[in-house]
Amino acid sequence: MRFRSLSELERPEPKQVILATMPQQISMALYAKAKAFKINELVREIHQESYEWYGFTIADKDNPELIIDIGLPKNDQNLQDFTTLGPERIAEFHESLPEEAIINGWIHSHGALKYKHFSHTDEENQATVLDFVTARLRWVVAKKEVPIQDLNFLVKGEFEEKDLGKGSVSIITDGVISEATIMETIYGGFCYSIVIDDEGWHEQEIHYKERGVLSGHRTVSKRSADIVFIDTGRSLTEADIALLSDEVEEKVQPNLNPPPEIIERM
Ligand SMILES: [Zn+2]
Repeated sequence: MRFRSLSELERPEPKQVILATMPQQISMALYAKAKAFKINELVREIHQESYEWYGFTIADKDNPELIIDIGLPKNDQNLQDFTTLGPERIAEFHESLPEEAIINGWIHSHGALKYKHFSHTDEENQATVLDFVTARLRWVVAKKEVPIQDLNFLVKGEFEEKDLGKGSVSIITDGVISEATIMETIYGGFCYSIVIDDEGWHEQEIHYKERGVLSGHRTVSKRSADIVFIDTGRSLTEADIALLSDEVEEKVQPNLNPPPEIIERM
């Protein structure tokens, strides 16, 4: 018989019960897909050239996993500003949404650039969006044991202050007990990230964040995800395109003086 290490023998794996699974793939309405690529087209049409832009993916609060729309915030004219997609900017856009809508991620275009990956700058922006989205889109994903060595049980009204000096955690109960398992709620959230280009290419990731309510333990992870397009019955109409055209004109401003670090920025 072989033991890997003594500590493993002493500390069994904490108990965990999974209560909800976060999305493993991205669901997107065909309408939202059409709108995203239409924005690319309109940018080229209106500004005579391809420009990068970003927007937010929008879901219904009742079905946060399905992207039903693309929200176009006022994109910064200045490249430097774009790199710091701040929480106040997301909050501002969030405020403008109808009550039943929720931001579940973001989408951006590399336009005509041949850079078909998420960039380092994308990752930084991603972290900001993830924090914002998961603060509002929070699920109870698990109950997980908080392993506590040296629990100190005390009975209400029957202990002195100095008894609190013992043990690592004191549990005060209304009766004598000798054993307890403490299980904390793990909150989890996700955030989609999609990058597209002028030619119909797209790549996407799902980012996850979890936090233990008692331990405060946080984990952040991500995965490359498949995207599934869903026909919700809505299609991009001529009227939609006319409205979108106005939005693109107002919100996506060409930068006529890009700094040399443009490649860094994608
Ligand atoms: Zn990018």
